[in-house]
Amino acid sequence: MTEKLSIRDLPISGKQVLMRVDFNVPLDKEYHITNDTRISSALHSIKYVLEQGGSLVLMSHLGRPKGKKNPELSLIPVSKLLSKMLGQEVLMAPDCIGEEVQQLADTLQPGQVMLLENLRFHSAEEHPNEDPSFAQQLAELGELYVNNAFGTAHRSHSSTVAITKYFPGKSAAGFLLEKEIQFLGSAVLNPQRPFYAIIGGAKISSKIGVLRSLLSKVDGLFIGGGMAYTFFKAQGIDVGDSLHEDDLIPEAQKTLQEAKERNVDLFLPIDNVVADRISDDAATQVVQTTDSIPQGKMGVDIGPHTIDLFSSKLKDAKTVLWNGPLGVFEVGKFSNGTKAIARTLANLDAVTIVGGGDSTSAIHAVGYADRISHISTGGGASLEYIEYGKLPAIEALTDAAVKVLE
Ligand code: AMP
Repeated sequence: MTEKLSIRDLPISGKQVLMRVDFNVPLDKEYHITNDTRISSALHSIKYVLEQGGSLVLMSHLGRPKGKKNPELSLIPVSKLLSKMLGQEVLMAPDCIGEEVQQLADTLQPGQVMLLENLRFHSAEEHPNEDPSFAQQLAELGELYVNNAFGTAHRSHSSTVAITKYFPGKSAAGFLLEKEIQFLGSAVLNPQRPFYAIIGGAKISSKIGVLRSLLSKVDGLFIGGGMAYTFFKAQGIDVGDSLHEDDLIPEAQKTLQEAKERNVDLFLPIDNVVADRISDDAATQVVQTTDSIPQGKMGVDIGPHTIDLFSSKLKDAKTVLWNGPLGVFEVGKFSNGTKAIARTLANLDAVTIVGGGDSTSAIHAVGYADRISHISTGGGASLEYIEYGKLPAIEALTDAAVKVLE
C-alpha cells in the first residue's frame, strides 16, 4: 500500500482541522460510557492538533440510528467525558451539518474543540450517493482533514471517503490510524514466523473470505467459536443446533482442501462444550467432535482438550493474529476457552495482534492487555485489511509523496 500523508505533515498552526474519529462507545441504560478506550486512544491526535495551535472539529458515528435522529444515540455523553479527559470545554454541536453548525465552527479559536452530533443521524453518511452535498457540508467545517477512525476504514462513507475530494493534498492519517496500518501491515506483509491466526466469532459469511486469504500468509490456522461448526458439517459431522451456515459448506470444504494443498496446519476444535441453551444455568457436557453434537444441543465453547491443543501448538509462534471469541464469551460459563486463549497469547514471546470487540474484552477480562503487542480498534476493518491489503478510507487519503498545499 502506498504510504499516506500523516497528521505530522500538516501545517496545523492557525488552521481548523476536521477529524473523523471513532467514538462508537458502548453505553449502558443510563447513557454512561462503559468502556472509554475509543476516546482515550484518540487523545494523542486531538492533543497534537491543539498543541500545534489548530482548532478542531471532531466527527463520529455512534450505534446504528439508520439515518434518523435518536436521542439515545447522541454523542453528548462523549463530549462530557472528552471534556473531562482534556481538561477543557468541548463544544457540543446540535447536529453535524447545517447553518447553526457552520456558524459555531466559524467561531472556533485555536486551541478550541467542537464535537459534531452523530453522523449517522443522516442517511447520506452511510449512503454518500443519496446526497453528495452532505460530504461537502461536512468538508466546509475545516481546512485540513484527518482520519483517525480505523474501525470504519473499511466503509466508503461520506465522512471517510467522499469527503476527501474536498481536501486535495490535505487528507492525512491520524496517529491511531497510522499505528494500525503499521502493525497490521508488518504482521501481514512481513511477519516473523511461524505466523498463526486464530479466528472465532459468529460472522461466518464475512470471515470465510479472510480465512481463505490467510491460508496464503500463515503457517497455521486455528478456527473456533461459531465459525467451527460449518467446518464440522463440511466434514459430515452432525452439529445439532449449533450455529452454522449450510450455504457456506462448499466454501468451508474449499478452505479445508486449500489448507492441505498449501501445507498449512488447520486446527479445528477436537472437543466442544455443548449446552441445551445459551444461559449460565444451562445444562452442559463436553462432547468430542468425532461423536457429533446431538439435536437440541449446541456447541458454545471449545472443550478442555482443544484448549490444551491450541495452547501447545501456539507455543512456538513468533506472530499471532486473533479475531473473534472461541465461544459465547458473554455468558460466563462459556467463556473459558476464550479466556484461556487470551492467557496463552499474553504469555507468548511473539508479536501478538488482537482485533474485534469480544477478543479485546477477553484480553482485558484476564487483565493482560499490556502484554499484547497491538490491540486493534477495528475488528472488521483489520480483517478486510488483511484480506484485500487495503481499505477504502485509507486509499482515499493523500499519498505521502504529495506536497501539502498551504
Ligand atoms: P464476531 O463479531 O464474528 O467476532 O462474533 C462475536 C460473537 O460470536 C459473540 O457475540 C459470541 O457470543 C459469538 N460466538 C462465539 N462462539 C459462538 C458459538 N459457539 N455459538 C454461537 N455464537 C458464538
